[in-house]
Amino acid sequence: MGNTTNKEIMLRRLQEILGADHVFPEEPMKKHITFRVGGPAEWFVQVDTVEQLGQVIALCKEQEEPYYIIGNGSDLLVSDAGVRGVIIHLSGEFLEISAKETVNLGVCDVCAGAGVMLAALSLRAGKKGFTGLEFANGIPGTVGGAVLMNAGAYGGEIKDTIVAADVMTKDGEIRHLEKEELKLSYRHSVMMESGDIVLRAYFKLTVRPKLQIFAVMESYKKARQEKQPLEYPSAGSTFKRPEGYFAGKLIQDSGLSGCKIGGAMVSTKHAGFVINADNATATDVYKLIQHIQATVKEKFQVELEPEVRFLGEF
Ligand SMILES: Cc1cc2nc3c(=O)[nH]c(=O)nc-3n(C[C@H](O)[C@H](O)[C@H](O)COP(=O)(O)OP(=O)(O)OC[C@H]3O[C@@H](n4cnc5c(N)ncnc54)[C@H](O)[C@@H]3O)c2cc1C
Repeated sequence: MGNTTNKEIMLRRLQEILGADHVFPEEPMKKHITFRVGGPAEWFVQVDTVEQLGQVIALCKEQEEPYYIIGNGSDLLVSDAGVRGVIIHLSGEFLEISAKETVNLGVCDVCAGAGVMLAALSLRAGKKGFTGLEFANGIPGTVGGAVLMNAGAYGGEIKDTIVAADVMTKDGEIRHLEKEELKLSYRHSVMMESGDIVLRAYFKLTVRPKLQIFAVMESYKKARQEKQPLEYPSAGSTFKRPEGYFAGKLIQDSGLSGCKIGGAMVSTKHAGFVINADNATATDVYKLIQHIQATVKEKFQVELEPEVRFLGEF
């Protein structure tokens, strides 16, 4: 971690840009990720405007400090040693949603800030009688995280309804990317390579009877409650779906259901989930992930690629 002078400069400059109440030095990251593990962030900051975001990125560049954007932390594992640099959390204007309905065409153009929770967006669309985001209702992430990951469930994905997104590049430039430019595919987007930050996303939704929308959402909710270990902290499905297989089935068939390392465990309800069963550390989770990968590779010659993203040193 940086020397005292650097730390003092960073703290003062971050506070100047964001206000003292938006800068949290040595913030425990376990408060901000759904796995509820991990060490502190050197600086955790809340950014309310696009202008502030540009200033924070410029500062990091000038001071040669790394920065990382975090949404709801529902696809992240943070190292027990913590994270160097600035962890940026979007709030303020990034929580805004605006919508324009074109009644005769039966469509609704929605613009949602990157910090908006997917469930809230999906619910709001449903209440207005617009379809296309029912799948997103049970995904505990933000619009920014979901666009980056092209999140999806029950046959739907972000790619189906998104039409464009505004991003900020590493140089602080704001760009409007049309859907094709986002290069969305299974748990992948162009931002994974570019490091661009999603500022807001545009969706096109169509009309559907509200009763049908809510019936679909309810069925997904029930399916999740029945099949997923929602009572434990986790990051959802730990691994991506390998081509031609299901990760959970491979793990189950490898005899790993209930396998524990420290406080981390392969869920007995759904083997695709590594859960924080009992005060796990990030190291426990990481070692269990590695153990699962090695076992499945040995038994089935299939490489499991984590869907969960790692932050800090492992
Ligand atoms: C119980 C549970 C169930 C889940 N079910 C599903 C599911 O059905 N389908 C599914 O796809 N996922 C699922 N997930 C995983 C997760 O919710 C999604 O991947 C979600 O989209 C992550 O969003 P987030 O805001 O939490 O992102 P984070 O976990 O905070 O971050 C994930 C990645 O996105 C990046 N990121 C975040 N915000 C931005 C931004 N504004 N611009 C650029 N990059 C950004 C981060 O840097 C990081 O690399 C589940 C997770 C849990 C805990």
